[in-house]
Amino acid sequence: MMQPNRRLSDFLPLKFANGNQVKQFSKPCVRCGTMLDAKQMNGIARLVENHIAIAATAQCPKCSENFGVACVINPDKQVKRVVLPRVLFNLYLRALPVQKGEVSAQATLNRGGVTPLPEVRDAMEDAAEIARQQASSKQVKARDIVRSEEALGRFNEKAIPAWLLLDGQRFDFERIAPNAQVGEGEFLLDGCLIYRAKT
Ligand SMILES: [Zn+2]
Repeated sequence: MMQPNRRLSDFLPLKFANGNQVKQFSKPCVRCGTMLDAKQMNGIARLVENHIAIAATAQCPKCSENFGVACVINPDKQVKRVVLPRVLFNLYLRALPVQKGEVSAQATLNRGGVTPLPEVRDAMEDAAEIARQQASSKQVKARDIVRSEEALGRFNEKAIPAWLLLDGQRFDFERIAPNAQVGEGEFLLDGCLIYRAKT
């Protein structure tokens, strides 16, 4: 029988055969970086051959972005992303029969330790990689960069040119992005200034 999607936190904690437990699961919002926990994700988490498999949809409370989460956590609590489409992975996990140990693991009480959570560290690494991928795939690149004499102000001791000529096309200053998050059609100058094509 197919299991329903549920709040991801309802599945936790899950316990591996080696005694390690996953009590929390966090992912940063792919859009604004807000850290979401399992309460803000809906889907399924299962123990499959001593790995925890997760397929869920997360909704960011801050920017309302919806995004998919599909990953497998090994008994050392390392999180690996799943390359299968999340929808298929979700259906597979829900159709899988309940295994020995799954139910009892869920009944284990959360004792709330103070050790750093590897899940959180992995989530941060994920976010950094997503940011890098987005930056490299969509951002505008230019060979010939001309900076305007006119400056709008200063940031980190450096002038903010009002506009740029990128291979002859004019781009206007859009915003400061200290974390170098570049959107589609945007140009990153000096690692923190974002420019957009003048429309
Ligand atoms: Zn968000």
